[in-house]
Amino acid sequence: MRVINTIHSLRAYINSIREQRYTVGLVPTMGAFHEGHLALMRRSLENGDCTVVSLFVNPTQFGPKEDLEKYPRDFNRDSQLAADFGVHALFAPTASEMYPEGFQTHISLPKIRSRYEGEIRPGHFDGVAAVCAKLFNLVQPQRAYFGQKDYQQLVLIQRMVCDLNFSMEIVPVPTVREPDGLAMSSRNAYLSPEERAVAPRLYLALRQAAEMAEQGEHKSAAIEEQAVHFLAEEPLIKVDYIKVADAEMLEPADLGDRPAVILGAIRIGSTRLIDNILLK
Ligand code: AMP
Repeated sequence: MRVINTIHSLRAYINSIREQRYTVGLVPTMGAFHEGHLALMRRSLENGDCTVVSLFVNPTQFGPKEDLEKYPRDFNRDSQLAADFGVHALFAPTASEMYPEGFQTHISLPKIRSRYEGEIRPGHFDGVAAVCAKLFNLVQPQRAYFGQKDYQQLVLIQRMVCDLNFSMEIVPVPTVREPDGLAMSSRNAYLSPEERAVAPRLYLALRQAAEMAEQGEHKSAAIEEQAVHFLAEEPLIKVDYIKVADAEMLEPADLGDRPAVILGAIRIGSTRLIDNILLK
């Protein structure tokens, strides 16, 4: 596996791959690899893509009071895991390599940035959009792989790729879960044993909400209320939101013929967890 730290060497590497006519698959990550990240890499490798994983804890997507400093980082472990997995290249730039002095370009998707995660984390999705646009331009992949676990991020990226005519496919990968249902996340490492024990309640609440919808409840408000109530029974959990939205545009919606998604976010102590379930 090639470890690449600079944009100059990344460009040289990508040129050599393209000369050999390989397809390129990009897996953008912030590291602290778990089975969710590995599922994205697996999918890219199975597609036969020369697989480039980016590992960059992107400062511009963290708010001033968020966990940028304490975000888990273990480069040696991550690069060993990626190499053992068969990844072809790991791009791990510094923040100054990605954002040299004078950088000022801003990409904003106004509707998506202001809802759900965007409402609670102002600026988060602008940071995600800009870093992904840079990675797409640098790597010029045929495909980029994103987890459904971060559903709003997935929709944001699909929208941006369409709006800005990036010539690539976004491949969604289903959420990988712990045996008790908790969606795998690098942030799960922050949870104390007591907090970890109650964390699967988010997925349970979403499942119950999905069942309510499957049994014919159409009103989003009724579904959301019942899920919030179930979560609030656990004193360690603070609910940020439970929202039903249409799965494509993420507009708030009652249930009808169109695919929908139930999005949820909670806090347990100082840790934020998000999850979602798609409704057919
Ligand atoms: P992150 O390192 O948290 O920024 O995540 C990098 C990529 O992995 C994103 O596309 C995430 O949606 C995806 N991802 C994170 N957790 C999971 C999971 N449990 N299942 C599937 N994909 C995931």
